[in-house]
Amino acid sequence: MPVSPELAEGLAAAVADLYEAAEGVLIGKIRRALAEGIDSPVWVELKLAAVGNLQAAITEVIAALQADASGAIGQALAEAYGRGQQAAVAELGALGVGQAAAAAAVLPTAPVVDRLAQAVIADTGPVHLRMLRQSMDVYRDVVSRAAAAPVLGAQTRRQAAQSALDAFADRGVRGFVDRSGRSWELRSYVEMAMRSAVGRAAIEAHSDRLGAAGVDLVIVSQSPEECPKCRPWERKILARTGVPGAREVQVEHATEDGEMVTVEVAGSLPEARSAGLLHPNCRHSISAYLPGVSRVPEPQASRGTYEDTQRQRYYERQIRKWKRRDAAALDDAAGKAARARVRAYQARIRELTAETGLPRKRHREQLTTAR
Ligand SMILES: [Zn+2]
Repeated sequence: MPVSPELAEGLAAAVADLYEAAEGVLIGKIRRALAEGIDSPVWVELKLAAVGNLQAAITEVIAALQADASGAIGQALAEAYGRGQQAAVAELGALGVGQAAAAAAVLPTAPVVDRLAQAVIADTGPVHLRMLRQSMDVYRDVVSRAAAAPVLGAQTRRQAAQSALDAFADRGVRGFVDRSGRSWELRSYVEMAMRSAVGRAAIEAHSDRLGAAGVDLVIVSQSPEECPKCRPWERKILARTGVPGAREVQVEHATEDGEMVTVEVAGSLPEARSAGLLHPNCRHSISAYLPGVSRVPEPQASRGTYEDTQRQRYYERQIRKWKRRDAAALDDAAGKAARARVRAYQARIRELTAETGLPRKRHREQLTTAR
């Protein structure tokens, strides 16, 4: 069975889910803290006195999240590495070249998994502080605006609180910038960091296992929704390890002793990966290439374009945004309006998937709520 980042992507969602759920809990805590006594003439004083309580409650949520997340990250990576290994074993078995037995010895997972887990923990480190800071900022902002305009009544206060909560629910905790300078919201940022790590774990496991079975060459699949970055590598043969650069190599036939075969190698697997192949969300996969036995697949027509898939991702983000708005609604009318927007974007996804034949990904339209 070939390996692709997709093989382990679902594992990334489990960690991102924890963050999204915690974000929902934070919005709920701020909402309740603001709503309590909102009609009281001494609301501002009450709210200022309760800043410490809210901060303590939020700190507690974040500490629990951190503990859950570090366990979940290690678990997801170990599972991803296991899946990558299993994929290689299944693939070698199906090829029936007598190498499955050589590959059956279990490779140690710990060093790779630890290294990747440390990278994710380092990438997500600043997230926790930012969750606390931005939550407290929303609360303080609403209270200080009300304090600055004491003549305005409870109704105005309620409106100000609602619009600040809406804005927070929309943007969530954000401001995470990746190495390429792009800004991300909380869930996407965590998911991106995790996807990249679990994808790497699965691919490294697969490649390590093929190596243990003496397979040195791999082939890149044909993908129905290819990304521009991967196009140059599609249907190309790569050396699992070794020097970069395209070349012709003479290798022994996989099943005929002593027979040599000429293979055109497009470069090395690490070279292709650092050029972007098998990036997070990549639909390409890698399989063992057995000289003289494996065939290069025929080119295939695309199912929706890359732009179509990006449009689908946009609609999915809008659905989640309006679901968060619904969760932050202080009254029925605001909730109803938010749910109407959710339905409108769902309708657009139905149209898009019907038109292009792209598969619908309902889990991406769902908001994770606290357990
Ligand atoms: Zn790709």
